[in-house]
Amino acid sequence: MATDFKSARFWAKEVIEEALFPGARAIDATMGNGYDTLWLCELVGETGKVYAFDIQQEAVAHTAERLEQAGMQERASLFGVGHEHMLDTVHEPVDAVLFNLGWLPGAEHGVTTQTATTLRAVDAALVLLKEEAVMTICIYPGHAEGSRELESLLKWAGGLDDKRYDAVLKHYLNQPNDPPQMLAIRKKKIKKK
Ligand code: SAM
Repeated sequence: MATDFKSARFWAKEVIEEALFPGARAIDATMGNGYDTLWLCELVGETGKVYAFDIQQEAVAHTAERLEQAGMQERASLFGVGHEHMLDTVHEPVDAVLFNLGWLPGAEHGVTTQTATTLRAVDAALVLLKEEAVMTICIYPGHAEGSRELESLLKWAGGLDDKRYDAVLKHYLNQPNDPPQMLAIRKKKIKKK
């Protein structure tokens, strides 16, 4: 479905791209086949670092292979654990966090992100974000769990303190089949008195 306004993943990339720079720290919360992890590694450069998570060992293996082929394995740490555990594994503040929810393309649709763990993960990500850092979440309401994730994430984002965070949603209003939506959160700079 080609459209002039592009898609949720494209909008997320625009937000993330603006936040990253050589030497930056980033988290790929859903590494999948590693396309996004590789792209983040390119953006943070040789001196940067990407932390990537997935619960499927198949995803970790595909991503490791992709990074190795590109000669970028040194820039990333890959964790075969759920993103809801990111506070146990990432011990420094980050400039950007990317979530691309749903299931691993080309694999069993049975393994998809789940509302309860997604909510724990986005809360953890807020803790890790530096001031003025961003998080993007691509949500797929076209399937049952994705629809539950959307409802819960909108409630969660709507409840964030407006003095500390900006929360923005971008989505099509006139396309069939519940197209993906892009939620972006930015942590504000705290003004010194
Ligand atoms: N960004 C990926 C890429 O570039 O190929 C695609 C991600 S795919 C849409 C979503 C991924 O989330 C799947 O690989 C799935 O295994 C993973 N996932 C499901 N539950 C998870 C969890 N609790 N923590 C981390 N990843 C999870």
